[in-house]
Amino acid sequence: MATLFEKIIAGDLPADIVYRDEEVVAFRDINPAAPVHVLIVPVKPIPTANDIEEADAALIGRLFVVARRIAADEGIAEDGYRLIINCNEHGGQEVFHLHLHLLGGRPLGGMVKRT
Ligand code: AMP
Repeated sequence: MATLFEKIIAGDLPADIVYRDEEVVAFRDINPAAPVHVLIVPVKPIPTANDIEEADAALIGRLFVVARRIAADEGIAEDGYRLIINCNEHGGQEVFHLHLHLLGGRPLGGMVKRT
């Protein structure tokens, strides 16, 4: 079954798309955790970080190149931002189509709760 993000990439589900090329699509998170919260998604449906293969190395690099461009476009590059990939249950992954979170626009605090 297609994931939510495959439906967004296919145009079957609406999203606020901020970037698109043949390999990468980026759209605003529907439930933003910061003033800027964009998801950068490979068109190729890689379920989790565990499924990244050697042949995906350039594609994964492209996610970061696109993230850097969006950070500049959103005006958060200089102040800074955070890039996150959640994996499986302990990582808090909810959508099983690999995606890079770009978060910024305010100080984001500590990286994880030390509980
Ligand atoms: P993760 O927990 O890393 O799998 O993140 C999934 C993210 O997808 C969450 O931050 C959700 O708010 C976001 N999300 C879920 N459904 C949608 C949607 N239809 N459009 C945009 N973002 C979504």
